[in-house]
Amino acid sequence: MLPYSSLQAAETAIGRSLTAAETLWYNYTANKSDYVLYCHNILFLFLIFTLVPLFYVLIELLFRDYVAGYKIQPKVKFSVYDNFRCYFDVMRMFILVVGPLQLVSYPSIRMIGIRTSLPLPSLMEIISQLVVYFLIEDYTNYWIHRLLHCKWGYEKIHKVHHEYTAPIGFAAPYAHWVEVLILGIPSFLGPAMVPGHMITFWLWIALRQIEAIETHSGYDLPWTFTKYIPFYGGADYHDYHHYVGGQSQSNFASVFTYCDYIYGTDKGYGYQKRLLQQLRDGVGKENGGSYASAPDIKSE
Ligand SMILES: [Zn+2]
Ligand SMILES: [Zn+2]
Repeated sequence: MLPYSSLQAAETAIGRSLTAAETLWYNYTANKSDYVLYCHNILFLFLIFTLVPLFYVLIELLFRDYVAGYKIQPKVKFSVYDNFRCYFDVMRMFILVVGPLQLVSYPSIRMIGIRTSLPLPSLMEIISQLVVYFLIEDYTNYWIHRLLHCKWGYEKIHKVHHEYTAPIGFAAPYAHWVEVLILGIPSFLGPAMVPGHMITFWLWIALRQIEAIETHSGYDLPWTFTKYIPFYGGADYHDYHHYVGGQSQSNFASVFTYCDYIYGTDKGYGYQKRLLQQLRDGVGKENGGSYASAPDIKSE
């Protein structure tokens, strides 16, 4: 809740007129508690988990011929029913784990100092903090994900996420409930180390999930904005990790490619890409074309 009794009081406190965005923020948040603002994430996550994967289902239904060339594993088909079955599994997890986790984690947000007050952060502050959050999350997620590929972690926890050897958008948050909890830590670390405004926090949670859905979409679409981000992994990169499955020693990173490059866990993917280049005629392909039937290369 904002500590001002009126718009004028807010302007006096920050020593200038409010911008249009700040006036909007004032009017929207003046009578809402910080807890209610934090819990907006539940609504945002519900909308993202529902609408973004639905976009990929719809383009597959409406523009099948156009997008067929961009499908990473074209021989693997999922019906609308398959998609919705995955969606309902995700929603069950959302209601039982993700939502309650949001409801009870508010004290940690207060503790790290996420602010809701005026002035609003500048665009540069928002972008620079988001870049830091993505880098911290990517690095931490890399190591947790790599650990989950040890025998015990994979059999007991991570196997659920790998049920989809050809991932779909709805399967991005499809995982064992323990994994959902563990992977909340990397998402939280960035804001904890560099706390910002609630708007930045909302954007961070939303963009991270949209990015995860894109990388699980099963489509390597050429016109996505993410193609222009340096060292960005993308759908083809993570799809390969799912294709190889439990034995995978490649492509553990969630967003960028630099961790796999530094620690030598992109060799299998690089080898497959080079091999595929030589096998363009279709020899030795599985699941319709993106990967050649050669073993994944393990890291040392
Ligand atoms: Zn994995
Ligand atoms: Zn995945």
